[in-house]
Amino acid sequence: MSNQGTSQLGNPIMYLKGVGPAKAEALKKELGIETLGGLIQHYPFRYIDKTKVTRIADITEDSQTIQIKGRLTSFDVKGDAYKKRLVATLADESGFVELVWFKGVHYFKNYLQLNAEYLVFGKPNFFMSKPNFPHPDIEHLAGPVTLTNRFLPVYSSTERLKTKQLDTKGIARIVRNMFDKILPADVTEIIPETVLEEEELMGRFQALKNIHLPSDEQSISKARERLKFEEFFCLQVRMLQLKHVRKKLKGFIFDKVGDYFNKFYEQLPFELTGAQKRVLKEVRMDTRSGAQMNRLLQGDVGSGKTIVGLMAMLMALDNGFQACMMAPTEILAQQHFENVKKMTKGLGLELNVELLTGSVKGKRRRLLLEGLEMGFIHILIGTHALIEDTVKFKDLGMAIVDEQHRFGVQQRSKLWLKSTYPPHVLVMTATPIPRTLAMTLYGDLDVSVIDELPPGRKAIVTAHRYEKDRLRVFGFMKEEIAKGRQVYIVYPLIEESEHFNYASLMEGYDSITRAFPAPQYQVSIVHGQMHTSDKDFEMQRFKDGETHIMVATTVIEVGVDVPNASLMVIESAERFGLSQLHQLRGRVGRGAEQSYCILITSYKLTADSRKRMQTMVATSDGFKIAEVDLKLRGPGMIQGTQQSGNIGLRIADVVKDQALLQRAREAAARLLESDPDLENNLALKEFLATQEQQQKLEWSRIS
Ligand code: ADP
Ligand code: MG
Repeated sequence: MSNQGTSQLGNPIMYLKGVGPAKAEALKKELGIETLGGLIQHYPFRYIDKTKVTRIADITEDSQTIQIKGRLTSFDVKGDAYKKRLVATLADESGFVELVWFKGVHYFKNYLQLNAEYLVFGKPNFFMSKPNFPHPDIEHLAGPVTLTNRFLPVYSSTERLKTKQLDTKGIARIVRNMFDKILPADVTEIIPETVLEEEELMGRFQALKNIHLPSDEQSISKARERLKFEEFFCLQVRMLQLKHVRKKLKGFIFDKVGDYFNKFYEQLPFELTGAQKRVLKEVRMDTRSGAQMNRLLQGDVGSGKTIVGLMAMLMALDNGFQACMMAPTEILAQQHFENVKKMTKGLGLELNVELLTGSVKGKRRRLLLEGLEMGFIHILIGTHALIEDTVKFKDLGMAIVDEQHRFGVQQRSKLWLKSTYPPHVLVMTATPIPRTLAMTLYGDLDVSVIDELPPGRKAIVTAHRYEKDRLRVFGFMKEEIAKGRQVYIVYPLIEESEHFNYASLMEGYDSITRAFPAPQYQVSIVHGQMHTSDKDFEMQRFKDGETHIMVATTVIEVGVDVPNASLMVIESAERFGLSQLHQLRGRVGRGAEQSYCILITSYKLTADSRKRMQTMVATSDGFKIAEVDLKLRGPGMIQGTQQSGNIGLRIADVVKDQALLQRAREAAARLLESDPDLENNLALKEFLATQEQQQKLEWSRIS
């Protein structure tokens, strides 16, 4: 929170009426709230409209979150010492329902009173076609509902806060105490007046007051709109400023296209796709502009990003610069290294490619680093060993970062320090991020998309099977192997987890070697806890066709390319997220043969898991899959975005509020056009600076 100079919002929460040291400590620990300003930004996530009550007899399987009112006719703790649950019965004139708690059993047992009247709020579950409410909100009904307290704000809280009387109602109480004290002048407006007018937004103080102490539905929605807009607006102003600063960063000018690029292009065994050509043109434009390139290249698995990355590196070479490519794992770095060497062999030009990973040590490493600094090495490929301080280039002009999601923003920017000017940076990711999200998270980058697969690819046939079908799946594997193909089998865990009975990798490996006995069948195994050299050895055997089956964990998820592998079997597929399943599936379908992906799950699936399996079977479009994933899991969980840390979105939702995001982005752009350094909008400027500072703190706490 900013603008705390003389504002009361900077005051420690401890001194607020009803708080004190113990509660203050808990608020800090559990929710990160230290000041009144922190509390005022702890927005309610919904409201209970106390005038709307559903009759118990009217509850249906389609009922969403609803409110019922009734008398408590029984309650009882059931189960054994390990799995206790509290079951209560609530009755109104039309019927009765069960309320169930698995957590906080003790707390609710003390709270509930037989025959008292309660207001219960929750989403009903159905068991044997009878409704019950798991973990509902429950409140003693005291007195009639009046219009001023018709909407009750509901705040998120934690078990620990609840034991300190800071459940949603406790929080509502201290929020009211806060609004008794603060004045409109304590809340500085940060959105410029003109923007407020153009967008017809509510003022800041009014919005904050309405969101916590609402009087009617309309004021809630206006307050929400204003606060969501504010979050998007701040984020976009920061992104656009960053982008603007970057644009002003001088970059090397690649003014010619020479032999490296042209000869390579001529000897390509296939035609580049239209999308690949377009991206290369974009890179070409960027590298001629005089500014540093910062480009994100999104393309589905198998869309041919590597060639584009390689050709971007060749542009650098043609202009007398070195280039590098950074991959997230040794296996991938090794693979890129071999590919690049193979593809550039016949050019008849001097081109030294080297590999640098953690396992390059001693004299070899020293020689390599010397060669790099002298400029003898043209292309360096490696893992994040590349960004260590000891690695110095003579003239690094182009840096390619493969599979962005494994690297943080910090690592990306470390590459800049490798040269006099920052090199051009092309970040390649196979995790398609929906446009809106990309705009939010990578708004500081320009985005290119490869939206076209190389021609002649056969769509991968995907099927969902249950564990009981496993023998038939094994039969199908044998058929494929008999045709000379290879098979991946992926398991989610290395060891049996204590709580869940999922197939473990080792158990799987045993059952596979039993079903596919040597010497007829050869089986490889790769997992994260193996030594790198052993892993590489096994991977190499599989690549060379010496083994038929690769039993693996998700280490093979990213980038590994074995065109002869035509079947991917994923065990306990319900354990994987959609993006991950899609990535895994992308390991097959790289050759000319028809490829298959079989998802094996248990019979009992949650609605979400079922939706994930259905989506995988229905489509192989990475962008569609990413959209569904985003809806199912929420943006914070999308693979590749965890590292974005806290980006200051508390109330705004990048999926649901896309239209507002767009408006905020346009407004931010207009503002920066007339006031690029925010000299005329100092309140905003100060707010953003504090926000950035705070997020750095939170960031350091996480990592
Ligand atoms: P990804 O985008 O997943 O990194 P790759 O760059 O590994 O994809 O490419 C997948 C495969 O497609 C590679 O074997 C590559 O040689 C091949 N490939 C790339 N571009 C084309 C193209 N235009 N036509 C045919 N094959 C291509
Ligand atoms: Mg790749």
